[in-house]
Amino acid sequence: MRGSPASRPDACLARHAVPQRRHGVGALTHAAEPREPGPDEVARMSADLARRLGTARREDPAERGNAARRGSASGTLERITVPVWVHIIRDHALGLPDSAVARQIAVLNTAYSGGYGGADTGVRFALKGITHTDNRSWFRDPLGFEEPMKKKLRVGGPETLNLYIAQLSRLVLGYSTYPYWYDDEPVLDGVVIDWRSVPGGPLRDFARGFTAVHEIGHWFGLLHTFENGCKAPGDSVDDTPAEAYPTNGCPSKKDTCPAPGGDPIHNFMDYAQDRCMREFTVGQGVRVHQMWDAYRRPAPLGADAGTRKAAATIERPAADGAGDEVPSAAQGDEEAVIEAAR
Ligand SMILES: [Zn+2]
Repeated sequence: MRGSPASRPDACLARHAVPQRRHGVGALTHAAEPREPGPDEVARMSADLARRLGTARREDPAERGNAARRGSASGTLERITVPVWVHIIRDHALGLPDSAVARQIAVLNTAYSGGYGGADTGVRFALKGITHTDNRSWFRDPLGFEEPMKKKLRVGGPETLNLYIAQLSRLVLGYSTYPYWYDDEPVLDGVVIDWRSVPGGPLRDFARGFTAVHEIGHWFGLLHTFENGCKAPGDSVDDTPAEAYPTNGCPSKKDTCPAPGGDPIHNFMDYAQDRCMREFTVGQGVRVHQMWDAYRRPAPLGADAGTRKAAATIERPAADGAGDEVPSAAQGDEEAVIEAAR
């Protein structure tokens, strides 16, 4: 195991770089997410968030928590309900069965409400619909075919989570876009995960559905707990102790930085195996709410109204090319199941 942050390949990967094996380790890990931002991009994200939230005093925890706790006398985080569209890509019989979708959504709700441990982030997920696409190329290489796949399937505006489930290479479990990228590339916004990582899937160490929990953390703007290694500002969250490098497997103890606190090996934003993951922190919940306010909240709020664009809804094109208009998640509340491109 290497200790230098500079040795983390994901920190060096450009957004469209080819996935790489990490640390020469043969075991499957959460590593090598293809769209990981590098340190400069992370710094730009933090600066843009501070600008959008209208405060230059981000080092003041009281100030930082204000927006997220808005409307709550108790200090608990405001409820965010995220509309979710699941896009199942299959190669004939190979791919995710529909029956697994409900299990994945349930795991998301349990994880983000603190049901496995840690804080209740206030975030909940509501399934709005499922699309089905039988496409061998997209299934086998959802990164290579990312643009045509998302152009055809994506639903809703910045507030809608589009979760694409296909098959990734052996060394990648999932990848996500960040809220900061939405304005430039709205059609690419979303999360892609390997179907085998969904609860009950065949990946022994990664089949509890926590890959989606982790990647959706990025979709909300959370960084890895090992971001910046031991150096400030770390992951820009105060209550996640700094760690020099990602966690592999599930060590009983790990403490890689001189600052107080052992490594957050059980945090969903580290790289441990699913059996080791169980928590978000209060600080991560606050950051999720800040990001939501700045980039994803569907209706602009008072003072923030001028700092972000109104939620532009991407109409979902007919997947079969027949020109059928499908209501977007932003327009209707009923669940819908759409058969596409069969
Ligand atoms: Zn990640």
